[in-house]
Amino acid sequence: MLNALTMDACLQRPPIPSGPALGRPQGPTPTPPTARPPPGRAAADHAEKPSGTEADANGDRRRVLLAAPRGYCAGVDRAVIAVEQALEQYGAPVYVRHEIVHNKYVVKTLEKKGAIFVEETSEVPEGEIVIFSAHGVAPEVHKEAEKGKLATIDATCPLVTKVHKEAVRYAKEDYDILLIGHEGHEEVIGTSGEAPEHVTLVDGPDDVANVEVRDPDKVVWLSQTTLSVDETMETVDALKGRYPNLLSPPSDDICYATQNRQTAIKQVAKDADLVLVVGSKNSSNSVRLVETAIAHGARDGHLVDGAEEIDETWLEGVNTVGLSSGASVPDVLVDGVLEWLAERGWEDVEIVQPVEERMQFSLPKELRRDLRAEAAARKTG
Ligand code: SF4
Repeated sequence: MLNALTMDACLQRPPIPSGPALGRPQGPTPTPPTARPPPGRAAADHAEKPSGTEADANGDRRRVLLAAPRGYCAGVDRAVIAVEQALEQYGAPVYVRHEIVHNKYVVKTLEKKGAIFVEETSEVPEGEIVIFSAHGVAPEVHKEAEKGKLATIDATCPLVTKVHKEAVRYAKEDYDILLIGHEGHEEVIGTSGEAPEHVTLVDGPDDVANVEVRDPDKVVWLSQTTLSVDETMETVDALKGRYPNLLSPPSDDICYATQNRQTAIKQVAKDADLVLVVGSKNSSNSVRLVETAIAHGARDGHLVDGAEEIDETWLEGVNTVGLSSGASVPDVLVDGVLEWLAERGWEDVEIVQPVEERMQFSLPKELRRDLRAEAAARKTG
């Protein structure tokens, strides 16, 4: 199904304009993104200030509680690097079906480098290269690409692929699959497309009453990877109320990154008057972070694409600001918010890191193959 990307394509294309690299550099030793201090400050400044110090007792100290882990997950990092590497390897343009990740800044930066974002595979000219986003696509989309003689790079996150495989497996075993997720989300469309006759979408606990299955004893639930952990368990409990023999997936579908960011924001929210989450409105995991913060004690919470969207009135009567970012957000945007807050008196930053994160995924196989081929050609040439 996957077309070979030829080296000729690389030779015929003009060089891409330079710009900031969005992906983390790939190296043998992964560096956790979470221990990074804000701009212009040494890590030690923060490491020495666990939350709950004497100064907290004053109750009027302006401070920022910076959640860790936050920002880029391994799946997003891989997808963004895949586009950057494809542009370098084959030259511009490289087409990308849908936003590679749900973040405006990332998309705009990649556009400047020569990526062209399209809604449908049919918009890509015959013979060109198209990259599928981290959210995954239905098998139908692979077929369309094949029809259009497109060279494809599949940047679907491996953790989304895992859910696709589960859907295929349970459909083969003739289960009714109850997919917990948000209607219209790209990931849900991709997963449903693996077994459309077997999948029923369940959009939260309130939707459970509407579910109909063929055999109540042959039902399994799966979920979108970026949901609220708490709300998903509520939905599962409600489903189990209706279907006591409901089968659970072999391991969590809600991914490690979504869970870790929610764990961190819960801890931050306990002590925060205001929580700011950097992320785009169409980023499911970012929206869930704001909801989780409010549900766990933050007095107020807002999702912003960057510092320019913060409304100064939100800071009235606020001492402690909690800050995090969604899994598709580069840290440069969080740095911008920290600078904005520092200019207004919130210079004191404490990192709250309840969990470490070290996951890293290798690049899509099509890219690895061509990078290897190029390296071998250089050696022999
Ligand atoms: S949020 Fe999770 S599933 Fe989605 S791209 Fe990141 S690691 Fe993969």
